[in-house]
Amino acid sequence: MESRSFDLVVCGAGATGLASAWQIKRRFPDLKLAVVDKENSVAAHQTGNNSGVIHSGIYYKPGGSKAINCRKGYLYLLDFCEKYNVPHEVCGKVIVASKEEELEGLEQIMERGRANGLSGLRFLNPEETKKIEPFVDCVQSIYVPQAGIIDYKALCLELQKQLEDQGVSFFLGDKLRDIKRSVQRLDLYFENKKIESRFLINCAGLYSDQLAKKCGFEIDFRIIPFRGEYFEFKPEFEYLVKHLIYPVPDPKFPFLGVHFTRMQLGGIEAGPNAVLALKREGYKKFDFKLSEFIGIMGYRGTMKLGLKHWKKGLEEYCRSFSKKAFVQTLKKMIPAVHADMFEQGGSGVRAQAIDKNGNLLDDFLILADEQVINLCNAPSPAATSCFAIGEMLSEQFEKIYT
Ligand SMILES: Cc1cc2nc3c(=O)[nH]c(=O)nc-3n(C[C@H](O)[C@H](O)[C@H](O)COP(=O)(O)OP(=O)(O)OC[C@H]3O[C@@H](n4cnc5c(N)ncnc54)[C@H](O)[C@@H]3O)c2cc1C
Repeated sequence: MESRSFDLVVCGAGATGLASAWQIKRRFPDLKLAVVDKENSVAAHQTGNNSGVIHSGIYYKPGGSKAINCRKGYLYLLDFCEKYNVPHEVCGKVIVASKEEELEGLEQIMERGRANGLSGLRFLNPEETKKIEPFVDCVQSIYVPQAGIIDYKALCLELQKQLEDQGVSFFLGDKLRDIKRSVQRLDLYFENKKIESRFLINCAGLYSDQLAKKCGFEIDFRIIPFRGEYFEFKPEFEYLVKHLIYPVPDPKFPFLGVHFTRMQLGGIEAGPNAVLALKREGYKKFDFKLSEFIGIMGYRGTMKLGLKHWKKGLEEYCRSFSKKAFVQTLKKMIPAVHADMFEQGGSGVRAQAIDKNGNLLDDFLILADEQVINLCNAPSPAATSCFAIGEMLSEQFEKIYT
C-alpha cells in the first residue's frame, strides 16, 4: 500500500468539493492539497446527474444559508463561467400557477425573491406568459430573468484542470474506507493506498454522514437518497418549451416539483420526481443494497417522514412507475403534451439530510472540529452555490489552519 502526505485532503470531486478546493487554493497557494473521489471521473454523482439549472435564489427562506449562498454563489458561478468559457446561458424562467389555489404560493415566492434581493421579477398574466412560453396554460406566472442553464460536468472538468495546474493532486477511482485520527494527523485508508493529512474536508454528498461518523462526529440526522427521474422530449416536440418552466412547489418539501428544462447540451428534460431510493446511489428503480436499505428504511426519521407524508410519497411512486401519471402532472403546465412525446431519460439521486423526527433539513449544514470539516447537507441549489459554499468552507478552514 503506497502512502503519501498532505496538508489537506478534500473528499468528493463533485461541485462542492472542487469549488472548495479551488477557493482554499486561492487563499493558501502553498498548501499541499489533494482531492480524492471513489469514481474515475469528476461530477459522477449528484453534480453530473442534476437538472443543469443555475438557480436564481428566489425560493429560499430569506436570511437562511441556502438563500445567502445561492445569491452569492450565483454571481461567483457566472463570473467563473464567463472567465473560463464554461457553457452556460442566463435564459430566464417562468414559475406557473395552474389553478387559483396556487396563487397564494406564487405570491409567497415573489415575496421571498424580493426579500432575497432579486431584481426584474414580474408577475405575468396568461397572455404575457404565452409571449415567453407559447404553450403554457396558467392563471398567473412569475418571470425570473436571472435563472439559467449550465453544463455542470464542464464546470467540474475546468475546476479539475485549474487545480491540477496549481499542483493539486487528484486521486480518483479509490474509495476512502476508513479514518484513524491522532492529535497531529489523520490516516486516511483507501482500498489501494493510505494518505496522511493534517486536515480533511468531507464533501462526499450521499455518503457525507457516514464519513462524518467515521471521523468521530456524533450526528443526529441521516442522509436519505431521493431519486429524481427524467423524461426527455423526442426532438420533434422540443418546440413546446423555450426555456425553463416550473410549477409552484409544495412549501412542505425542498424539491421543486417536476418541471421542463432546456439543457445546455441540447434537448429538453421533464422532471425530476422525488422517489425514496432503496440504495444511496440507486439510479434505477430496482437498485437495491441490503445494508443501505436497512439504513434507510430502519431509520426512525424515514418512518416518521413516511407516516407524515405517505400520500405525497405514494403520488411520487405512482409517477415513477406510470409514465401516464408523470405526464399528467406535466399537462397542468402544458396541456398539449402527451405520453408519446417523451422518451425515458436519466436520473439523479439527491442527498437529503433528515432528522430522527422525520424533518427534512432545509439549510446547508456544516459540522467542524479542529481537524475535519463536513459539508453534511448540500442538496439543491448547492451546485449553483458551490463557490459560495467553497468560500464558507475555506473561511472555516482558515480558522483551524492558522
Ligand atoms: C436530480 C437532481 C437535480 C438537481 N438539480 C439541480 C440544479 O438544477 N441546480 C442546482 O444548483 N442543484 C441541483 N441539484 C443539487 C446539486 O446537484 C447538488 O446539491 C450538488 O451537486 C452537490 O454537490 P456535491 O459535490 O456536494 O455532491 P456530489 O456531486 O454527489 O459529489 C460527492 C462526491 O463524493 C464522492 N464520494 C462519496 N463517498 C466517497 C468516499 N468514501 N470516498 C471517495 N469519494 C467519495 C462521490 O463519488 C461523489 O463524486 C440537483 C440534484 C439532483 C440529484
